[in-house]
Amino acid sequence: MSDSESVEKNGIEVSNEYVENGTNKLIVKCKFCGSKMLDKKSGTFVKQEKDLPLMQQETGKDAEVQNEKVNEFYHVENMYTFENIGFTHTVDNYKYLSCADCDAGPVGYYDMNTKHSFVALSRINHA
Ligand SMILES: [Zn+2]
Repeated sequence: MSDSESVEKNGIEVSNEYVENGTNKLIVKCKFCGSKMLDKKSGTFVKQEKDLPLMQQETGKDAEVQNEKVNEFYHVENMYTFENIGFTHTVDNYKYLSCADCDAGPVGYYDMNTKHSFVALSRINHA
């Protein structure tokens, strides 16, 4: 990989080893069962800060949902772009996305207002 592939825009790194020309260079798969979620180049890389519930919640006493901040996503405008995707639960105007095969999630969220989906890079595997 050469330095020229890395693009700086407004001081924000908008390219990494998984992103080429602003889209996913590799296939996006479920971390747990390997089910294919997105084909190459079908998601647009975006940086935005968002709280997502952890995939594995600590079980026990207070059943309070634990979140983590995620700031790298693939933006998918049309649900039908996904090869495989499921929904877990709905919070406010968001539906959380999960693996259609093994229900692992949330791997991202679906915005019911804009009908756009966002998949967290940290929650999926690239292949
Ligand atoms: Zn899966």
